[in-house]
Amino acid sequence: MAEIKEILPCIADPKKVRVVGKINVKEDFEEMMPYVAWLIPNSAYNKKMGWISFKKGARIITIHSDGFVTMTQVKDEKEAMEILNEIEQLVNKAYEKKDEIDLSKPREKINVTVMDVYNYLPKTNCKECGEQTCIAFAVKLLNGEKDVKDCKPLFREKKYAGIREGLLGLLSAAGFEFEV
Ligand code: SF4
Repeated sequence: MAEIKEILPCIADPKKVRVVGKINVKEDFEEMMPYVAWLIPNSAYNKKMGWISFKKGARIITIHSDGFVTMTQVKDEKEAMEILNEIEQLVNKAYEKKDEIDLSKPREKINVTVMDVYNYLPKTNCKECGEQTCIAFAVKLLNGEKDVKDCKPLFREKKYAGIREGLLGLLSAAGFEFEV
């Protein structure tokens, strides 16, 4: 049975919350992750990080190999539970359909806009990345002229952990490769 572990403020949208939940997973879940990702449109499985990330509306959802699920921009607890239950059903479906899933089939990548990236930056225009504004950084990041780690406060400050994970999930789902 899925459960909610933590409800936190969401920096990406202060009117919403960030939720950490947990779904029940079996011991072999890590092996099943590519199959689960295959069933989620516009998702990406990042083997190195051990997570699946995808965009659902404005939300970025990340499923970790230990069953923890983080979600940004969630309306309330009820909505978070609905998402967790949906994910559990998808995991069950992946076990059922495993033999029919062709992992070699190319899958669509999501389209990420400058505003999507900007939403998951600190929005302080501190210039530590060498850019005048966070928007300018977002443009260069999407053009491949900047590395996500160039936004130092995002990786240094604990209060940005939520948006950092959201941004990495978003970039991962869009097919960007990075090392953190
Ligand atoms: S370092 Fe990060 S927070 Fe500072 S301006 Fe650049 S993108 Fe914005």
